[in-house]
Amino acid sequence: MALRFYNTLTLQLQPFAPERDNTVRMYTCGPTVYDYAHIGNFRSFVFYDLLRRWIRASGFKLDHVMNITDVDDKIIRNAVAQGKSLAEYSEIYTQAFFEDAKLLRLEVPEHVARATEHIDQMADAIAKLGEKGFTYDTDGSVYYRIANFPGYGKLSHNDFSGMKAGARVDVDEYEKADARDFVLWKAPKDNEPFWQTKVGRGRPGWHIECSVMAIQYLGDTLDLHAGGIDLVFPHHENEIAQSEALTGKQFARFWVHAEFLLVEGQKMSKSLGNFYTLRDILSRGYPPEAVRYLLASVPYRKSLNFKFSELKTAETSIERLRNYKLRLETAKFPEGLNEQLVTRTAEAVKSFREAMDDDLNTAEALAAVFEYIRDTNTAMDSGTFLAGNVENAKGLLQLFNSVFDVLDVTRSADALSDAQVDEFIARRQQAKKARDYKLADSIRDELTAKGIILEDTKDGIRWKRK
Ligand SMILES: [Zn+2]
Repeated sequence: MALRFYNTLTLQLQPFAPERDNTVRMYTCGPTVYDYAHIGNFRSFVFYDLLRRWIRASGFKLDHVMNITDVDDKIIRNAVAQGKSLAEYSEIYTQAFFEDAKLLRLEVPEHVARATEHIDQMADAIAKLGEKGFTYDTDGSVYYRIANFPGYGKLSHNDFSGMKAGARVDVDEYEKADARDFVLWKAPKDNEPFWQTKVGRGRPGWHIECSVMAIQYLGDTLDLHAGGIDLVFPHHENEIAQSEALTGKQFARFWVHAEFLLVEGQKMSKSLGNFYTLRDILSRGYPPEAVRYLLASVPYRKSLNFKFSELKTAETSIERLRNYKLRLETAKFPEGLNEQLVTRTAEAVKSFREAMDDDLNTAEALAAVFEYIRDTNTAMDSGTFLAGNVENAKGLLQLFNSVFDVLDVTRSADALSDAQVDEFIARRQQAKKARDYKLADSIRDELTAKGIILEDTKDGIRWKRK
């Protein structure tokens, strides 16, 4: 069975492939940069990263756009409160987002599109919607007339046919199930920042930015549009209404959504005191790889219950994977090739691929890897894992790491390079040879202080990072 995703639009698991020229055109809703992103946001961002990596591992090319929402009600409110310009304020949290994303090893999309750099294109789209009869103006703001778009509700599978025409909502923050005509262009209030465009003075609403930037970079029809489940309605429903009214074509063939993240069994909220940014978690001493691993290990359509104890478990799992890799790289195995293990490796690769192809079932993919590690560790202990089996096993680990990306240790800026560590070890070996054990011990202590652990094994010295 080939790659398939659960499509929110059809409520079905469907085989997935790009529509043309082997390139997947993908759009994901990015951060609103009014504050540091929280762990619930990062569940979606890690999901996007897994999507990217597995689409590529499936032999497709990628053209991926992610937006940065750098103008909205909250950003304006916070910027004003701090006496900063909109650009000044949003730049701080845009940079913070990129720093966090790097720590979590999120690949950078082919296009990162900032809303404020596409204002004229948004005004053009709103004007065009107006020409087609989908908008009306009130007090300088422009609204989308939902009643004129018969497909409204097809993504969220809600029936809005009985909706009162002309009821409006002009803010960026929506109550769920609040189906009203939404704002496309907001006239400035008081001293709010504004742009002068062909649809007047003001700023774009949140929904129009995604439609406009998606179509600008990817064309009228996307292969895949992803987001968190809370975006299905109204945000994605509104994106469809705008885009399809503009182009007359289907906006996205596949819609995929990541479920909610709970913290210790409860909805995350500032009032409950269980609201965590990535920075909060890392400041407690957890490595970013553990956060990445935990967020990736629960299949995206299951709600994820984030617990600190699970971060510990994630650290242990990563440790096992790294120790296995180290054993493969440093142990001396008997010559030859164990054909049974060749078959065993092929099975593990197949299980891993099948699990990922099945709507990114990361839990089963991980299970396939750990069963393989257990079996081959046993074979190593009993001497039946042979030198000829090493490359195969490394191949499986590489496949795993091309998606999960947790094998490398996150190093601090002042960490030793591999070559520097090797130099220390060589000096220590020389000291031992010269029977200067005091010097040998002090070199070992120095390495320990720098986070490098030495192990004397029957096959010689091996080392790892703490
Ligand atoms: Zn969006």
